[in-house]
Amino acid sequence: MIVAIDGPAGSGKSTTARRVAERMGWLYFDTGAMYRAVGLAFIDAEQPFSSEAAARLMPGIGVDLDPTSTGLHVLLNGEDVTVRIRTPEAGHAASMVAVLGEVRSRLVEAQRRIARREVEAGRGAVLEGRDIGTVVFPDADVKIFMIAELAARARRRYDEIKAGANGDTPLLDVISDELAERDRRDAERALSPLLPAEDAVLLDTTALSVDEQVERVLGIINERRAR
Ligand code: C5P
Repeated sequence: MIVAIDGPAGSGKSTTARRVAERMGWLYFDTGAMYRAVGLAFIDAEQPFSSEAAARLMPGIGVDLDPTSTGLHVLLNGEDVTVRIRTPEAGHAASMVAVLGEVRSRLVEAQRRIARREVEAGRGAVLEGRDIGTVVFPDADVKIFMIAELAARARRRYDEIKAGANGDTPLLDVISDELAERDRRDAERALSPLLPAEDAVLLDTTALSVDEQVERVLGIINERRAR
């Protein structure tokens, strides 16, 4: 079974998708991590976020996900970048490279390959991103689009960064502005913009705890499986 969870940054996708995948014994697939790793590769190579640079760099960029007992690890050409991709700079870089066709087509292809492998092995995959229900798996068994008010999303991101901080935590206002800018770029881009699929279930998580979000999603999955 393929479960697609899309929505803006900080809407609760990652935590919920991870917990749902754990409960089902399925693959948790954070597609944003792949865009972040590619963004990091552009920064490391000191290249602009342009399609010319993408054409040059993409053939040499390999992004892999390694689900381990300590969580999902992200490898960029074999280097573990799990921690490095979580900075605001990597988030910004991800949304800059995510507008580029060369980047999207390669990552979408890899995402389909990895998730199909799980399904063929009799398991499921919970994919979270921006375009899973619309582009990557338009025929996903379950499609959920999570939304939440900007203030709630900024607060969650702030708490997350603070909890894992290995440096200074940015101000809440700065995080909020950064999220709003990223949402705008994701929603306005020409390729695979952030949009709910027509048949997606809309889940507003503003006032929901993580446990409640997880239960709602599990309920939707079980309902679908019972059909
Ligand atoms: O989900 P996360 O915030 O880590 O994603 C970082 C960025 O990667 C997003 O702002 C978006 O620009 C891009 N992205 C995307 N399509 C996806 C997942 C992420 O364009 N499926």
